[in-house]
Amino acid sequence: SSGGVKLRVAVVGSGPAGFYAAYRILEKAPAGIATVDMYEKLPVPYGLARFGVAPDHPEVKNCEEKFEEVAQSPYFAFVGNTMVGALPLAVPWYVPSFQPNHIPLSLLQKHYDAIILSYGADSDKDLSSSVKGLKLGGVYSARAFVGWYNGHPEFRDLDPDLSGEQAVVVGHGNVALDVARILLTDVDALRNTDITEAAIAKLSKNKVNRVRIVGRRGPAQAAFTNKEVREMMTLDGVGFIPPPAELMSPFVESSATLGRATKRLFQLLQRGSTTSVADARKHFSFDFLLSPASFDSPEGSSHVASAKFNVMQLQGDILSKETRVRATGEITELSCDVGFMSVGYKTHPLAGLEQSYNASSNHLNNENGKVCTGANTKGLYAAGWIKRGPTGVIAETMYDSFETAAVILNDFQAGEIGGKACDGWEGVKAELGNKLDWKVVSWSDWQKIDQAEKERGSKIGKEREKFTSQSDMLAVLA
Ligand code: FAD
Repeated sequence: SSGGVKLRVAVVGSGPAGFYAAYRILEKAPAGIATVDMYEKLPVPYGLARFGVAPDHPEVKNCEEKFEEVAQSPYFAFVGNTMVGALPLAVPWYVPSFQPNHIPLSLLQKHYDAIILSYGADSDKDLSSSVKGLKLGGVYSARAFVGWYNGHPEFRDLDPDLSGEQAVVVGHGNVALDVARILLTDVDALRNTDITEAAIAKLSKNKVNRVRIVGRRGPAQAAFTNKEVREMMTLDGVGFIPPPAELMSPFVESSATLGRATKRLFQLLQRGSTTSVADARKHFSFDFLLSPASFDSPEGSSHVASAKFNVMQLQGDILSKETRVRATGEITELSCDVGFMSVGYKTHPLAGLEQSYNASSNHLNNENGKVCTGANTKGLYAAGWIKRGPTGVIAETMYDSFETAAVILNDFQAGEIGGKACDGWEGVKAELGNKLDWKVVSWSDWQKIDQAEKERGSKIGKEREKFTSQSDMLAVLA
């Protein structure tokens, strides 16, 4: 341990938020003053950059090169395969097939001046009280499906049933578009990506040829972005079935006054797909003003065959992003051989942080990243999705982490934190003693796993072939 260090920082979670915060602290603190130890529950880093971002968007993962650079700092250490806090209990959808090793947050608090909580959102928004049939066969959370094709250990056994033709994706955000795109893309176009071979095997037997992307509100209120919509319109051999004319006509009438993005979206919807509906082998549509009520199976079956929706009506300016909806009382039914719920992610408080957490805002209570409310919050900070709620792209996450890093460095300068007689990971390790009975994955360990994945990939013409279980990852190090 180096004597000159005055600011020992622990980062909980190695996604974009954790890495950008670490980067900023190490960049802005005078050399040798600060150290960062990054705890990660999985044996591998990068969070949703690895396990969320779609495999056909490799350029988005370029941020990992920056993160690799950060990890080269002599003042940085990776503590992988080590979870902070207990497992979330009673989380719907949670599949406890993945058991990481964990240490309590209170132990970190003893050994660090500052802790950056950047552990993201690891469950689904729960709609089970308003949507029936979520447990039927063939109904999946988008988070699970995305995790599955990206090789997240928690979802390696998902084995989604893609043997039917009609898919319904509930949600009008970019994650819904990722799911739809993976279902519609010719599997050959995915073979060279880092999608898992298990997903390739399954997708090559995918029978889905019609995808309905269903949302509660109208086109102007959708959360997806134009870039992703444009991509959907240019998918090879895929035709777009346009929304009904009465939904589109207000856009025509107001086109002079529309904001740029809304105008662009409307043009995209109006222009439609580059492949005509008649020539397409697969089709998709955006279905607006439908709020999910149930997934249903025929008598005697536990597999979904249809889905019911409440028909909604916009209340107020239909062109405004903020406009809400109310139910008309009418119900509509769609065929559905496979359904995906893509209605958003849910965060949770680590054990001990319950009083600093607000379930309805879906993030830790904080002021510019400084955790507030609750006992014992001195030195606790938040970044990323756990700080501001589970929305926003990597660039937004980066700025938000920079803000948190600046607040920490200010607090350090002001003498509020820092200079504690503590020893970071060395201290934690010493206190754990022989309770530390699991393999801690260091950065050089990760580099070996990384190398092994790249070698597996290069044999089959891919950037990498991921290991999808904790034991396979650790076997590289044995
Ligand atoms: P995360 O990336 O989720 O990182 C959290 C990390 O903490 C994970 O590694 C997790 O394993 C770890 N962790 C959790 N609990 C613990 C614990 N108790 N102890 C230790 N470690 C823990 N953005 C884009 O810019 N472009 C895209 O194309 C894009 N596609 C996306 C697709 C999907 C499906 C999703 C869900 C998001 C996408 N995003 C995209 C958004 C982007 O992924 C997020 O902005 C960003 O990952 C949030 O970073 P984070 O660090 O807060 O959370």
